Amino acid sequence: MKRADLHTHTTASDGLYSPEELVRAAEKAGLGAVAITDHDTVAGVDRAKKAGMQWGIEIIPGVEISSLAGGKEIHVLGYFPGEMDRGFVEKLQSLREVRRKRNEMILEKLKELGIPIQMDEVLAKKRGESPEANVGRPHIAEVLVDKGVVTSIDEAFERFLGRGGAAYCTPRRISPEEAIRWISEAGGIPVLAHPGIYGDDKLVEGLIRGGLAGLEAYHPDHTPEMERRYEALAQKHRLIVTGGSDFHGERHGVPYHGPLGSRTVDLDRVEALFALKRGK
Ligand code: AMP
Ligand code: ZN
Ligand code: FE
Ligand code: FE
Repeated sequence: MKRADLHTHTTASDGLYSPEELVRAAEKAGLGAVAITDHDTVAGVDRAKKAGMQWGIEIIPGVEISSLAGGKEIHVLGYFPGEMDRGFVEKLQSLREVRRKRNEMILEKLKELGIPIQMDEVLAKKRGESPEANVGRPHIAEVLVDKGVVTSIDEAFERFLGRGGAAYCTPRRISPEEAIRWISEAGGIPVLAHPGIYGDDKLVEGLIRGGLAGLEAYHPDHTPEMERRYEALAQKHRLIVTGGSDFHGERHGVPYHGPLGSRTVDLDRVEALFALKRGK
């Protein structure tokens, strides 16, 4: 039985592995497939596909969209086992524009706090060469560590960048319902990423009514109790149960979320369910 890790990041967003390195690592980890789910971009997908052919790893094109509901950041995964709609790929540009403005807002707040950082320093942390690759808070955190403002990425998020941190800000973003619609209309499968971390199952149920096709029950930040709860919720609403490691590689030696392949699903089963949902 082939296993698939359905949640990974590459250098196209805030992952540390290039698409090729990720595929190579997947092969070493004994996986049959990986989904590439970078934040607000699909820039890593084509290279991963090429490497996937070389190493015998199936690549499921995907994306993880940052949306906002009730002041909370909600991540919606989209999977594209078939053709990916060009219009959808172009729409992602507007999300990266929001992200770019948000990054500027963070730097502005840091400046007010007496911590001047230039955008060039953040962009120097970008590892992906594609113009459609992006940077986010982890890259800002790296600069804060380099400058000795904090001693770890975790501390950067705790004190400055995470929710409740001194430089935290959320710009206006699309709603999760809109993200779900964008994905569905483009022929994709919309899945709610790590539902357990929002601490709000009413919101999760609302998004199920909003058109979700699946719930990511298996995620490194979920407790075993959460895994069972979302398996049951998915079953109740006839949704696909997915899972993935949310692999990002290691920053300053510390992995965030899980090692590659630490959360997986049965590839054949998930593909069959994807095919069913696409027909709807
Ligand atoms: P952004 O997409 O720019 O808003 O940044 C959010 C991303 O930062 C999340 O998706 C995680 O990948 C990452 N992140 C959040 N908290 C931490 C942390 N404590 N250490 C490392 N990465 C983190
Ligand atoms: Zn990330
Ligand atoms: Fe996420
Ligand atoms: Fe993620």
